[in-house]
Amino acid sequence: MSDCVFCRIVAKSIPATVVREDEHTLAFMDIGQVNPGHVLVALKAHAENVYGLEEPQAAAVFIAVRRVARAIREAFKPEGLSIYQANGKPAGQTVFHFHIHLVPRHEGDGMAFTWPVKNPPREKLEDYAARIRARL
Ligand code: AMP
Ligand code: ZN
Repeated sequence: MSDCVFCRIVAKSIPATVVREDEHTLAFMDIGQVNPGHVLVALKAHAENVYGLEEPQAAAVFIAVRRVARAIREAFKPEGLSIYQANGKPAGQTVFHFHIHLVPRHEGDGMAFTWPVKNPPREKLEDYAARIRARL
């Protein structure tokens, strides 16, 4: 048996509180509940991060995210919703099986995310963009 906790959840060998399931995705309650209604949409197949997704899997993941987001909005009436997805330890990933967080948000809920902007000159943006464009 896999030692990946989310593969175990998908295989139903350990419990999870599931809210939605389709061919490619499983959505279940995050055990930590940053705020009530915090859901994870995970890929059923084991892919460590976003780089491992096939396009149909990627499409299915975002369809699931949209549906679950709308259900959370109706159920919890949050003031906002954060969609968060980490790839790699420096990005904050702790479970190395692809998943997206949907976190209902409220003013002053204490969830923090620092955003250290650098505001580089336009030429830098052009340079960065060219490097990405060349590889698409
Ligand atoms: P990340 O830091 O994006 O990799 O987030 C991993 C998330 O998985 C954390 O928010 C954990 O609370 C959650 N988590 C870990 N184990 C379980 C589990 N067995 N069932 C539900 N959520 C889990
Ligand atoms: Zn896995």
